[in-house]
Amino acid sequence: RDDVRWDRTRVVMLLMSFVSIGIGWSRIQVRTQRKNSLYRHRLQFESVLRGKRSWSSSETSMNDQKSQSNHGPVVVWFRKGLRIHDNLALASAVKYATQSKSTILPVFTLDPYFLDPEKVGAVRLSFLLESLCDLDLNLKKFGSALLLLKGSPDSVLIDFLQSKNASALYFERDSEPYAKKRDAEIVQLCEKSNVKVFTEHGHTLFDLEYLLKQCTNKKAPSSMPEFLRLMDSVGNPETPLSLERVLGVSNTNEKLDPCLQIPAEYLDSDSFKIPKSLEDDEDLVKSGYRNIDASGAKFKGGESEALLMLESFCKRDSGKAVEQFSKPHTSPCAFDPQSTTGLSAYLKFGCISARRFFHRIVSKAKTQPPVSLVGQLYWREHFYLLGYAHGASFSTMKGNALCRQIDWRTTEEEPDFARAWEEGRTGFPWIDACMRQLRQEGWLHHLARHSVACFLTRGDLWISWEFGQKVFDRYLIDADWSINAANWMWLSCSAFFHQYFRVYSPIAFPKKYDKSGHFVRKYVPELKDIPDKYIYEPWNAPADVQKKAKCVVGIDYPRPIVDHSVASKQNMDRMSIAFAANKESNASTSKTTPPTKRMKKA
Ligand SMILES: Cc1cc2nc3c(=O)[nH]c(=O)nc-3n(C[C@H](O)[C@H](O)[C@H](O)COP(=O)(O)OP(=O)(O)OC[C@H]3O[C@@H](n4cnc5c(N)ncnc54)[C@H](O)[C@@H]3O)c2cc1C
Repeated sequence: RDDVRWDRTRVVMLLMSFVSIGIGWSRIQVRTQRKNSLYRHRLQFESVLRGKRSWSSSETSMNDQKSQSNHGPVVVWFRKGLRIHDNLALASAVKYATQSKSTILPVFTLDPYFLDPEKVGAVRLSFLLESLCDLDLNLKKFGSALLLLKGSPDSVLIDFLQSKNASALYFERDSEPYAKKRDAEIVQLCEKSNVKVFTEHGHTLFDLEYLLKQCTNKKAPSSMPEFLRLMDSVGNPETPLSLERVLGVSNTNEKLDPCLQIPAEYLDSDSFKIPKSLEDDEDLVKSGYRNIDASGAKFKGGESEALLMLESFCKRDSGKAVEQFSKPHTSPCAFDPQSTTGLSAYLKFGCISARRFFHRIVSKAKTQPPVSLVGQLYWREHFYLLGYAHGASFSTMKGNALCRQIDWRTTEEEPDFARAWEEGRTGFPWIDACMRQLRQEGWLHHLARHSVACFLTRGDLWISWEFGQKVFDRYLIDADWSINAANWMWLSCSAFFHQYFRVYSPIAFPKKYDKSGHFVRKYVPELKDIPDKYIYEPWNAPADVQKKAKCVVGIDYPRPIVDHSVASKQNMDRMSIAFAANKESNASTSKTTPPTKRMKKA
C-alpha cells in the first residue's frame, strides 16, 4: 500500500511540475511577445514621426482584438490642410469609416500655444477663423461639420477621442518643429487610449521624406539649380484627388455616404461652435485679442476664396499672367490687385492644395523655373525640404549648419532702430509703407519683403535676421516656418546668397516701379501731398514744399534714422570681414567667396 501511495504521490508531483513548467513557459512567451510588440511599436512610432510611413490598422493597436471590434467614430484632426479638395487624410478617413460603418467627426483644436498677439497677429488669426468657418460650411453641404475644440490637443483632443470612444484618428503630417513634437505626444497618448492613428502627407507637392530619400546621401540640395535637378528626376507631383475620391461623391446632389452624416447632438451643441470673429469669442479676447483692429485685412480666409482666386489669376490678362509670369518683373508696388497670385496664406493654411495649384498652371506656363509660377512652388518645396532635413536649428543662427555666423546687433543694443523699423517710422517712405502694409494687411509682395529685410540686416541697420523673422512671423498671414527662415537667411546673406555688395536702395529701387509713389501715399498718408519728386526722400524737399504738403519732416514725419549711403557702405565692410571670418573658421558649409556673376533669384 505504501508503494501504491508513493506512486500516486509521484504522479501528482510529476503532474504539478508539468503544470508549473507550462505556466512558466507561457509567462516567458507572453513576456517575449510583449517585448517584441513594444519594440515593434517603438520602431513604427519612430518611422511615423520621421514621416516614413502611416500607421496601419494591423500595426497600431497594442490590443488588436479589442480595437477591431471598436467601430467608434473616426476623427479627422484638421490643423493645416483646411480644405476638402485633394485632402489625403480626409479621403483615407472616409474610406476607413465607410468600410467600418462608422461616423466621421472632423475637428480643429484651437491651441492656446498660438493664442498670443505677440506670436500670431490679429489679421492672421482672423484669416484662420474665416478659413475654419468656410471649411465648416463646405463640410455641412455634405452632411458633416467642423467641430472646434478649445485647448491644448494633448488634453482636449485626447478627452474627445476617449469620451466618444473613437476608433481612429487621421491627420496630415506637419514638418514644423512644434507640430512634430505635439504630434509625437498625441500618437503616444492615442496608443494608450487604444485609438489607431493614420497620417498622410498633403501640405507640399511631394511627401518630404520621399523627396529626401531621392537626394544623394539623403542630403537636401542647398541651391536652386540642384533642387531643379531633383525635380527633374522625380517628375511632376501626382494629380490632385478628385472630390469623388475624397468624399465618395462628386457633388451634393448625389446620395451622400452615411459616414459623413454628423449626429444632430454635435450640430445643436454650442460647445463646438467656431467664432465668426475675434470679438465674437470671450476666450480670444481674454488671450489679448481685444481692441485690435483686423479690419485692414486684404485677403479673406478659406478654401472657397482660394479656389476663386486661383481661377481668377489664371484668367488674368487672358491667361498671360500665368503664361508669362516672371517673378522679377512683377511689381512690389501694385496693390489693387497685387501683381502676384496672393495665394501664400491659403497655401500656408492648406486652404488650397499645392498639387491642385501646380496642375492648374503647369501646362500653361511659357516661362521657366525658378522665375515662372511653377518655379515659385518649387521655392516653397525647396525651403520646406531644407527645413525638414535640418530640423529646429533651421530658424536660428547658432547651431545652424547652413547659416553664416555674423556678429549682428541685437534689439537690446539698438532698441530704437528695431522699433522704428517694426512700426514703419524709419523716415524712409518706401520702407515705412512696406512695414505698414505688413501690419495692416499681413501681406507684402516678395520684393517689398526683400527691401525691408535687407534694410534691417546687412543694408542699413545691422540687426539680426532672427528679429526680422520674429516680426514677420507675428504679422504675416502667410507666416511659414521654413519659408520665412530660408528667405531671411537669403536676404541677410547668411545662407544661399553671397552678393552682399548688392544692397536695395530705399530710394532708387521703388522708383523703378512707381515713380509717383502711389503705394507710399496709400500706406503713409501723411506724405500724400508731397510732390512726386520728393516722395521717396521728403527730407530733401524745401521747407516751403513740406509746409504746403502739410508734412514737415521731423514733426509730421520722422527724419531718416540713418544715412543710407554711409550705413550701407559701412555694413558692406562688416560683411566682408564676416565672410572672411566664416571662411577661415569653416563655420559655413556653403561657398563663402562672393561670386562676381549676377545670380538669378525669383
Ligand atoms: C524675408 C522674407 C520672408 C518671407 N516669409 C515668407 C513666409 O513666411 N511665408 C511665405 O509663404 N512666403 C514668405 N516669403 C516668400 C514670398 O515673399 C511670398 O511667398 C510671396 O510674396 C507671397 O505672395 P504670392 O502668394 O502672391 O506669391 P506668388 O509669386 O504668387 O507665388 C506663389 C506661391 O509660391 C510660393 N513662393 C513664392 N515665392 C517664394 C519664396 N521666395 N520662397 C518660398 N516660397 C515662395 C508661395 O507659397 C506663394 O504663395 C518671404 C520672403 C522674404 C524675402
